[in-house]
Amino acid sequence: MGVYIARFRNLPNAPPYKKFLRGYGYEGESSTDFSWDAPGFGIAYKKALRVPRTKISITGFGEVLPRWDNFVELDPTAKDVYGIPVLKIHMSDGENERAMIQDMGDSAGEMLEAARAKNIRTYAHPSAPRWALHEAGIARMGSDPKKSVLNQFQQTHDIQNLFVMDASGFPSNPCQNPTLTIMALCVRSCDYLMSEFKRNTF
Ligand SMILES: Cc1cc2nc3c(=O)[nH]c(=O)nc-3n(C[C@H](O)[C@H](O)[C@H](O)COP(=O)(O)OP(=O)(O)OC[C@H]3O[C@@H](n4cnc5c(N)ncnc54)[C@H](O)[C@@H]3O)c2cc1C
Repeated sequence: MGVYIARFRNLPNAPPYKKFLRGYGYEGESSTDFSWDAPGFGIAYKKALRVPRTKISITGFGEVLPRWDNFVELDPTAKDVYGIPVLKIHMSDGENERAMIQDMGDSAGEMLEAARAKNIRTYAHPSAPRWALHEAGIARMGSDPKKSVLNQFQQTHDIQNLFVMDASGFPSNPCQNPTLTIMALCVRSCDYLMSEFKRNTF
């Protein structure tokens, strides 16, 4: 069974959480299986094996704040099969991410304890650079052309008839899965594009 625990830190209209900015959600799953690691041998083991064991695991997915240390560039040496330079990704955790990861582990333990789970094991270590690959960013959206590439319709500030309708406009990488937001932004951009097209703007 799949589990999703929505973001609960730093929600609108609530006091800010002191340890970090933004927030995270949990994704998880549960299953019931034989007790494969039951102790013992022979008949005792066979009996213990048949005692069903239910497991639940939850994993935090947190927002990564934009930092100058995190950037992409064209790899100076590595090329793909077509001879095009591949992307070199520079990514590390900042103070905010480290505090958030610690909270993911601590809060997961508290929730499972409150749900009366037994044999709880928590961890709070980052998987480098990340286990969840949510490609987004590099042409951030914003109202100031000096600080952003795209406007709210994913139209470039510099070139009027160039739209970038994918995840490039994300100013940071949120804790939610990005695809529905990518699609919603694309619909909004297409509406705008069509209305401008009808007005012969292009
Ligand atoms: C393993 C995995 C699991 C994921 N699971 C989820 C999930 O469950 N839910 C969710 O919401 N998100 C998920 N994501 C994230 C999501 O897939 C990405 O954030 C999203 O696809 C980004 O969309 P995009 O259109 O910006 O880029 P992409 O989908 O990466 O599209 C970029 C396109 O550009 C093409 N391209 C690249 N270079 C060139 C070139 N030189 N010339 C022409 N074309 C080029 C590529 O072939 C590709 O088709 C997952 C990602 C991964 C890797």
